[in-house]
Amino acid sequence: MDSNTDRYRRSQELFARAAQVIPCGIYGHASPAAALPGALPYYAERADGCRYWDVDGNEYIDYLCGYGPVILGHQHPVVEEAAARQRRNALCVNHPGPVMVELAEYLVSLIDFSAWAVFGKNGSDMTTWCVQVAREHTQRRKILKVAGAYHGIDPWCTPGHAGLLDEDRAHIHDFSWNDLESFDRLLARHRGDIAGVIMTPFHHPAFKPSEMPAPGFWPHIESACRREGMVLILDDIRAGFRLDLRGSHACFGFEPDLICFCKAIANGHALSAALGRKELRVAASRVFLSGSYWNSPPAMAAALACVQILKQQEIVSTLRRSGEMLMQGLLQAGAKHGYAMLASGPPAVPFLCFIDDPSSRRQQYFCAEVARRGAFFHPHHNWFLSAAHTPEDISATLGMADDAFAVMRNEGL
Ligand code: PMP
Repeated sequence: MDSNTDRYRRSQELFARAAQVIPCGIYGHASPAAALPGALPYYAERADGCRYWDVDGNEYIDYLCGYGPVILGHQHPVVEEAAARQRRNALCVNHPGPVMVELAEYLVSLIDFSAWAVFGKNGSDMTTWCVQVAREHTQRRKILKVAGAYHGIDPWCTPGHAGLLDEDRAHIHDFSWNDLESFDRLLARHRGDIAGVIMTPFHHPAFKPSEMPAPGFWPHIESACRREGMVLILDDIRAGFRLDLRGSHACFGFEPDLICFCKAIANGHALSAALGRKELRVAASRVFLSGSYWNSPPAMAAALACVQILKQQEIVSTLRRSGEMLMQGLLQAGAKHGYAMLASGPPAVPFLCFIDDPSSRRQQYFCAEVARRGAFFHPHHNWFLSAAHTPEDISATLGMADDAFAVMRNEGL
């Protein structure tokens, strides 16, 4: 691969400056540390529809969508107008706006099992709060979760290791996705002290293919929760609104007690939400919930506009069709050049990786070569489709992938 130094010159200059004044330069998910150095842009300048431009002026068809929030396309005019109209009225005031009530009513009407909604800003706000609600409701201590699942950055669940006490995880217990024996073992060991089970609708660990639930997996978890009085919390932060507008559980034939949303709820505006069954209303009203910006109405106006468009325009089926076209095309292009690939996850939230690529080296080169041609695939985080990706955009992407595979073949990768 040729040097990308010129292509990403300004990104690299900014990163060098950032390293002086920001720990790690860029931290968290967006850290470039896990990709080939200099293979992808570090800083973005602007975005529109399904495209964005980095600070060096390079254009990309965007298959990460801001790590998921952008479901209708960047700068969607109706969502932006709803937020701007609200912002002209009030940005940060002493009381919630009427839009909070309208949004709660709309979401409760959409999410089939729910009777109430609350709002925060980030996904972690809601997963952590739901864990507390489960404990308050049951007056028990233990929380079961899946090993390798991401639920946010709070001490009970962060994937990081620094700054933690053993006590932070003393009552958090991991079982393995699709492994009911490991779930039943925890259940037997802690029976009567388990407050809740928190899970994503399908398993989407970083650096690995996604895994769908095996037949019988969700029904077993759901019936154990009902039988044992454990609160079932669905973390639908990543997949929510892309698989089913009633909540992603509707695709898998079960019902949770609490559900957490964030990401796609407001097409990029900062908002998260938790919804729950009527039986959990009392516990929900007891667990304190607040934040400096949590009542801010513009993001709520954006969410209301976004979710209404998702429903009116049946965006879920558009995303599925687009994802299918992308993944089938990529598998075919790979096969044409002799690469065996694995497509995993639902088409609207897909991931593609090379079979026999244990170090992810091929994956890294593939994403870098496609980026040089004008599309952004993340090398180790699942991808996202938006309603702004047209069949023409996807065809153009497949052409870029075809060229990238050909270059890799020539270079013996
Ligand atoms: N749960 C899941 C499944 C997520 O994907 C994320 C965000 N990647 C979170 C929780 C945490 O959300 P946030 O980063 O907004 O706190």
